[in-house]
Amino acid sequence: MGKRMVVIGGVAGGASAAAKAKRENPELEVVVYEKSGFVSYGACGLPYVLSGEIPGLEKLLARTPEEFRRQGIAVHTRHEVVDVDPDLRVLTVFDHGEGRTFQDRYDYLVLATGAKPLIPPIPGTEQEGVYTLRSMEDGERLLKALPGARRAAILGAGYIGLEVAEAFRKRGLEVTLLEAKDRPLPHWDTEVGDLLREELERHGVEVWTGVRVEALRGTGRVEAVETSEGVVPADLVLLATGIRPNTGLAQAMGVALGPTGAIATDEGMRTNLEGVYAAGDVAESFHRVLKRPYWLPLGDVANKHGRTAGSNIAGQEARFAGVVGTAIFKAFGLAVATTGLSLEAAQREGFRARKVFIQSRDGAHYYPGSQPLWVELVYEEGTERLLGGAVVAHGHGALRINALAALLHREGTLEDLLGLDLAYAPPYSPVWDPLLIAAQQAR
Ligand SMILES: Cc1cc2nc3c(=O)[nH]c(=O)nc-3n(C[C@H](O)[C@H](O)[C@H](O)COP(=O)(O)OP(=O)(O)OC[C@H]3O[C@@H](n4cnc5c(N)ncnc54)[C@H](O)[C@@H]3O)c2cc1C
Repeated sequence: MGKRMVVIGGVAGGASAAAKAKRENPELEVVVYEKSGFVSYGACGLPYVLSGEIPGLEKLLARTPEEFRRQGIAVHTRHEVVDVDPDLRVLTVFDHGEGRTFQDRYDYLVLATGAKPLIPPIPGTEQEGVYTLRSMEDGERLLKALPGARRAAILGAGYIGLEVAEAFRKRGLEVTLLEAKDRPLPHWDTEVGDLLREELERHGVEVWTGVRVEALRGTGRVEAVETSEGVVPADLVLLATGIRPNTGLAQAMGVALGPTGAIATDEGMRTNLEGVYAAGDVAESFHRVLKRPYWLPLGDVANKHGRTAGSNIAGQEARFAGVVGTAIFKAFGLAVATTGLSLEAAQREGFRARKVFIQSRDGAHYYPGSQPLWVELVYEEGTERLLGGAVVAHGHGALRINALAALLHREGTLEDLLGLDLAYAPPYSPVWDPLLIAAQQAR
């Protein structure tokens, strides 16, 4: 009889693990339990469904439960795993559809329970009109609310708050973005935040930074946000104040967490318990610049985690190479990409770090339609080792970040960057690529 693999959570990490394991070892029995009504979807597309650019949530589905079944993978939606006994390798599952509890067994278990929104500890968040955006169900609720809404307040100017600000503006709402720190995208340095603020304001978003949100006012339905700087009227409030790894089940069964609070794994995504793996936003990664565990809850990372766990369960030898912290998002006309450490983060980590920030263009100055493009490089004084960087552009030019990410993976220096043979043609780059101009300036 084939071994039995059970996956808890069926989105990016879980679906990848299940599909990869079954593909590599068709003898495996593969079962996925998913608490919500949806599996295998691209949560990253949710803001674009809200904006109307993608015509419906179903477009985000990568594979339906039926398609999984045809692959030989049993997917059970609205099934929540409520307990795991790792000694007996038995799970207790609550079927929300039938309202019954039953038990199942596993030889291999993948914890892919993801992350959950952090609700700020202020009065009034339980009222109608207050939303988070994490899952398809969240997307459904917001889509229903949007036609009746006029004034939105978004708490938190991280990438999700910024993407949704754009979506809400595209739906004709008045939008106020409220951020406790002094700039949008507060985990990065000020110049990028300044560019973002300008872009947001140009598109009619009111940006309040350095504000403390004190309460959501209303009598059962939200009416306004009370802040240290004044009251913002709002009939729709989005809480985009961060997420936390969903580790409750893991902790209850004795799976060890790492220093970040997410599940600790080895390079093969194995946890401390025999036969138990973790993948996706619930798990840590190894950060190749910091050389320690790091929590990077992103979709591409979740897919790689899942694929690694699935390969290993199928009997292969797969290793996840770690992360350097690369990300990109769109805010109206700007594409903002970052990798590695900001100057602030690098200094906080004890590096003797410096940065340069330059403005160049995404094409030759004479090429019609070429636009400004900005590069930040963060590097270590003395060794000139690259520590991080950002590229802000009016489009795909921001994907230059991938060259920096590749260098960070290999502990590259400014000299390594200057030696790169980068692509050039007038529609795509000045003859000196903006990354090279920044590196020259740094030297
Ligand atoms: C609006 C938005 C935009 C994003 N944009 C990007 C982007 O542009 N780029 C990028 O890289 N990333 C992006 N992300 C992040 C990306 O979506 C996540 O990293 C990814 O979804 C993580 O997948 P996961 O499988 O680890 O976890 P999740 O997507 O959180 O899925 C975990 C699943 O486990 C289920 N579950 C939990 N506990 C149980 C249980 N006990 N029993 C059964 N099921 C359980 C949950 O119901 C959930 O469906 C975005 C996220 C959001 C919300």
